[in-house]
Amino acid sequence: MEKREQIYEGKAKKVFATDDAELVIVSYKDDATALDGLKKGTIAGKGAVNNRMSNFLMQILEKEGVPTHFVKELSDRETVVKKVSIVPLEVIIRNISAGSFAKRYGVEEGIVFDAPTIEFSYKNDELHDPLINSYHAVALKLATSAEIDRIKEMAFKVNSVLREYFLRLGVKLVDFKLEFGRLPDGTIVLADEISPDTCRFWDSKTNEKLDKDRFRRDMGGVEDAYREMMKRVFGSC
Ligand code: ADP
Ligand code: UDP
Repeated sequence: MEKREQIYEGKAKKVFATDDAELVIVSYKDDATALDGLKKGTIAGKGAVNNRMSNFLMQILEKEGVPTHFVKELSDRETVVKKVSIVPLEVIIRNISAGSFAKRYGVEEGIVFDAPTIEFSYKNDELHDPLINSYHAVALKLATSAEIDRIKEMAFKVNSVLREYFLRLGVKLVDFKLEFGRLPDGTIVLADEISPDTCRFWDSKTNEKLDKDRFRRDMGGVEDAYREMMKRVFGSC
């Protein structure tokens, strides 16, 4: 398989075409943005952490029956994935109150929910990714009603698998964002990434933040947090 021209550069990753029309290569950068793109920076080593962790988690999910875009890790930063047509929704699952949920509803962070919640944002930079409900998503033809049902089912399955997995590593999975895509035959698969950029991870004992919130909130220790999550997942490396 041969790497061809760059087809997209996003905030955290580049996407390259390959000689196979059904495959692309994603290349993870150390660049970080937050606060709707207002805050920009780099997190040394982040690209490699996110690439390796995301690939590892997607392989766990595949074994648990969740189809993903993962094909093959090429290097620390580069991975071959199935090319999908991205459903333009950010699918957010929450187990514990934090971030925009706590702010929107005026509650403290750290409330453990009796059952996980799901919400969608419309992936649209010009509109600043507004919150959207599933009826509006169908009205806007972002996805069919059947696709949304499937996405919800897959997202809650991802949550139950990963929540239990991280708990065993001494980490609370507070909330996370998923993206889904369509294969040429219409099958919905989990795409994009699952990493400390897209999840909130809190140490089970101390509630120490081990994710991108350290960057968003200028807390310091950002690289250490990414390294610590890497250590929990892969052992000392
Ligand atoms: P953004 O576009 O939000 O800046 P990234 O820098 O992470 O995000 O760029 C990666 C882009 O690739 C995202 O737009 C994401 O939706 C898209 N993407 C993720 N997985 C796939 C895939 N398997 N096929 C095609 N596009 C993908
Ligand atoms: N998230 C993400 N990308 C986004 C917005 C949110 O990966 O563009 C993740 C974020 O890391 C967190 C979860 O989704 O794990 C919920 O984020 P929230 O809605 O609380 O927004 P934030 O506080 O990050 O603005």
